[in-house]
Amino acid sequence: MAHELPPLDYAYNALEPHIDEQTMKLHHDMHHAAYVKGLNTAEAKLAEARESKDFGLTKHWERELAFHGAGHFLHCVFWKNMGPNGGGKPGGNLMKQIERDFQGFENFLGHFKAAATQVEASGWAMLVKNHAVQKLEILTAEKHQNLTQWVVEPLLVIDVWEHAYYLKYQNRRPEYVEAFTKVINWKDVEARFDGKGR
Ligand code: MN
Repeated sequence: MAHELPPLDYAYNALEPHIDEQTMKLHHDMHHAAYVKGLNTAEAKLAEARESKDFGLTKHWERELAFHGAGHFLHCVFWKNMGPNGGGKPGGNLMKQIERDFQGFENFLGHFKAAATQVEASGWAMLVKNHAVQKLEILTAEKHQNLTQWVVEPLLVIDVWEHAYYLKYQNRRPEYVEAFTKVINWKDVEARFDGKGR
């Protein structure tokens, strides 16, 4: 199923004077649209590879998948995160959690603005929820494709750092990867998929 560019919930000029109309139009209609197109292409190419069992360009298409996928999903969040009546402070449980995890809203905002300002070259700063410890954190992503789509939840992971296999397999990573598939606890993966894994 192909991804589509979602329309904005507000007019291109609705964020004036803070974010200008022309920037919004270009950013949404051209830049975000390009991520959607690239993501669809990457997914189609990887589907072709699975079909033909020709996995020679997997690294290339995984990079494309991460770059365009991260671009698409992050922009979907970004547009919704803004609105014509924005600003101020959050309330409710989010505010309580921010106060707990950042020792106050002003401290959070200072940290967030510094993180965004100090991203080297291109990228993003994000307030994220770490499900493993039920904690809010501020993370940055240089560019955004190294090499995740963000807003995804890991269900099955394999460590391919050398420390995970070198004593037994040395440079034969494919053998280690094959061996890993023999020990996957699919019950755990299933539980994570069903939202019961944490
Ligand atoms: Mn952008």
